[in-house]
Amino acid sequence: MADDRFHVYDTTLRDGAQQEGLNLTVADKIAVARHLDGLGVGFIEGGWPGANPKDTEFFRQARTELDLKHAQLAAFGATRRAGVKAADDPLVAALRESAAPVVTLVAKSHDRHVELALRTTLQENLAMIRDTVSHLRAEGQRVFLDAEHFFDGYTSNPAYALEVIRTAAEAGADVIALCDTNGGMLPDELAEIVHDAVQTSARVGIHCHDDTGCAVANTLAAVKAGATHVQGCANGYGERSGNANLFTVVANLQLKRGFDLVPREALADMTRIAHAITEVTNVTPNSHAPYVGMSAFAHKAGLHASAIKVDPNLYQHIDPAAVGNDMRMLVSDMAGRASVELKGRELGYELTPDTTKTLVERVKELESQGFTFEAADASFELLLRDTLHGSRRRHFEVESWRVIVERTKGGELVSEATVKLHAKGERIVATGEGNGPVNALDKAVRLGLEQLYPELAKLELVDYKVRILEGTHGTDAITRVLITSSDETSEWATVGVAENIIDASWQALEQAVTYGLLRAGREAS
Ligand SMILES: [Zn+2]
Repeated sequence: MADDRFHVYDTTLRDGAQQEGLNLTVADKIAVARHLDGLGVGFIEGGWPGANPKDTEFFRQARTELDLKHAQLAAFGATRRAGVKAADDPLVAALRESAAPVVTLVAKSHDRHVELALRTTLQENLAMIRDTVSHLRAEGQRVFLDAEHFFDGYTSNPAYALEVIRTAAEAGADVIALCDTNGGMLPDELAEIVHDAVQTSARVGIHCHDDTGCAVANTLAAVKAGATHVQGCANGYGERSGNANLFTVVANLQLKRGFDLVPREALADMTRIAHAITEVTNVTPNSHAPYVGMSAFAHKAGLHASAIKVDPNLYQHIDPAAVGNDMRMLVSDMAGRASVELKGRELGYELTPDTTKTLVERVKELESQGFTFEAADASFELLLRDTLHGSRRRHFEVESWRVIVERTKGGELVSEATVKLHAKGERIVATGEGNGPVNALDKAVRLGLEQLYPELAKLELVDYKVRILEGTHGTDAITRVLITSSDETSEWATVGVAENIIDASWQALEQAVTYGLLRAGREAS
């Protein structure tokens, strides 16, 4: 069980699930909870049982299916309704019946919200907090309180906002989490208010939204002002601009402030966990996310490359391995010899000064034609190998290819491709059908080569991106195609550039297959 002196409290399954376009089934929630437990968070808020049938079901299934190693589950819910006993309120009953060890009650702490939204008196709101907290405590659950709109409430009526904290703490709430529900705060003013709240001697937590782009900064400022419980969401999920990104918060506190929040091995697995969660949520990972993004330690070196070669730590704020990420060198036309050399080393090749010089010239020439190697490591590696060998080496030669697109009588679009190839002394003619011309070409190539190279059966085209590049100096616009392929264990990207989109796609496809064969241990001749 995690140390109770400082809480890492995740609310992905409740507040994070409010994100536009994010929909989690019960099975998804269980899967996300397992990942969060693997990271070592202390608390996982599962949802609002009673108010949402899916959440009631989550808590029911969690009892038998979720074997948490670090985290405790928290059920989220509101204080009792005005004018009824806590014991008689069916929503409070659902919180008891969730059997979650922790209940997080949301309560109003802004006087105007009490009067306008809750339509009750300030005194009755305090009674609702007192009764619900003490009732659930008496029933054996630990209680935290989310003080909703706390910062705006404090600005409107500080005495009342503080009275909410005192009332909850005296009734037995262990933590009062101060919520910047509208997300409009900035770190300095927020810290002053947290400082005042801590003077009540209640244990204070922090829950921030990112509407000012300061959710993580606000969370850190609150911790500095005395908060010992931080709330946030995986990958910063949440409605509007999102919640505080819990991964960033944890990495900052642990690596920069010396807090011991999650096991070191778990932190070193954070990049994988962040990506595994995106697989469940089906939200495209943010490649620029701090610490865990694909680009978080990617250097477009240029001027810096030679220094990075000497000491990478001069150019990165932490060792990427601490969070399970990697430094990556990007090869671009801004790059010189040093970054090409570094990239080569990253890929496992030692380059002589002569080879490096030739390779840099080829990269520059191709980039002037519209190629980009930043996002196409596999194409760069093929280019590097060709340069090393002094000639183009491939597993197959292309005689010709052809693709037709037909709109049938029934209105269906069908694409059919024919490729003529030479490999291992054989001439191969193969056709493939697909839902589009590139898909048909992909099928034809693989069908043609599969008898000679059975490992191609595992190869899959996973992403296809097209970009039209403006023509320069009176030339026509050209098309750049980036293809991402995978073989179950890894992914690689290749690039093609041509005036014709199918031609550009073909180039990227041919390299994708070649690279797949190299990965499978097939040397070209
Ligand atoms: Zn919230």
